[in-house]
Amino acid sequence: MTTAITLADIHAARRRIAGVAARTPLIPAPALSRVAGAEVHLKLENLQPTGAFKIRGAANKIARLVEERGSADAVTGVTTFSTGNHGRAVAHVARRFGVRAVICVSRGVPEVKLQAIRDLGAAIDVSPTQDEAEARCRRLAEEQGLVLVHPFDDPDVIAGQGTIGLELLEDLPEVDAVVVPLSGGGLLSGVALALKALRPGVRVIGVSMERGPVMYHSLRAGRPVTLPEEPTLADSLVGGIGLDNRYTFRLVRELADGVVLVSEEAIARAMAFMLREHGLVVEGGAATAVAALLEGKLEGTLEARAGSSAAPRRIAVVVTGRNVDVGRALAAMEPYLAP
Ligand SMILES: *Cc1c(COP(=O)(O)O)cnc(C)c1O
Repeated sequence: MTTAITLADIHAARRRIAGVAARTPLIPAPALSRVAGAEVHLKLENLQPTGAFKIRGAANKIARLVEERGSADAVTGVTTFSTGNHGRAVAHVARRFGVRAVICVSRGVPEVKLQAIRDLGAAIDVSPTQDEAEARCRRLAEEQGLVLVHPFDDPDVIAGQGTIGLELLEDLPEVDAVVVPLSGGGLLSGVALALKALRPGVRVIGVSMERGPVMYHSLRAGRPVTLPEEPTLADSLVGGIGLDNRYTFRLVRELADGVVLVSEEAIARAMAFMLREHGLVVEGGAATAVAALLEGKLEGTLEARAGSSAAPRRIAVVVTGRNVDVGRALAAMEPYLAP
């Protein structure tokens, strides 16, 4: 094992975040099951109090910090850089603990996400791009003594996201494959660590958008790379993995059984599908995983391979978030809403 994050860390995270993050339901997805030719289930992280799974990692990191310092008063403050969902999670958890929060964002972050962060009483600092927001955040942390709550490349954050894996196994012990949206890789790393420790044969597949999939190209290059940021419906997946990535690049390389890409049109179709079939509004970043199934993109990664048995029959898809700009989401879905 080349990683320091253990199953025990993920169990500890689960105890720490209870009462802050929700224990979300897993529901059957009959229409998606028909398309996929497998039994598909949806893990509804869109039902988290902040509308996305990121509250798990943020809660674990900040709760542990407060634990270690003895009290919330001993924490000067926390800061992060975010495409919105992680910033909102950090603002939410910081408020619960009475800790000051400064959230660094890029201009691409939708106004609804900024408003939600403001409503939680956190300060917002805007930079032109996601990568510049990160640089700004690191400077603020140093100058003001704030603790950086990294959106993905932090063992406590990864362990927090890993609690999804524990819940999945409780609800679907026979799960064969799990499909997750992939950006910085904190989610995939945590979920795969938990699942593979308890059920080694399970496959974990990451899905990114065609527009700026940094982890995908980093894996191909064998090292972290940067890409220009492009506008995409999957706004919550935008941004780099850090050229100095410490944990998630290696973990995703070790643990992912495949990484696939989906187009903007496929993302819009998947958002419309979720509204039509489940009455759920999901954001583009979350819809990527559904899109991969709808488009048959997973076939190569799910097929039986040497040493493993039949193709997966029970698939869980992590529906990671619901935070959309309503007008923009409706406009994207519009062409695909009729059955
Ligand atoms: C952050 C995020 C992801 C990707 O998680 P990573 O840990 O960065 O790979 C997926 N979906 C949503 C909605 C997110 O906010």
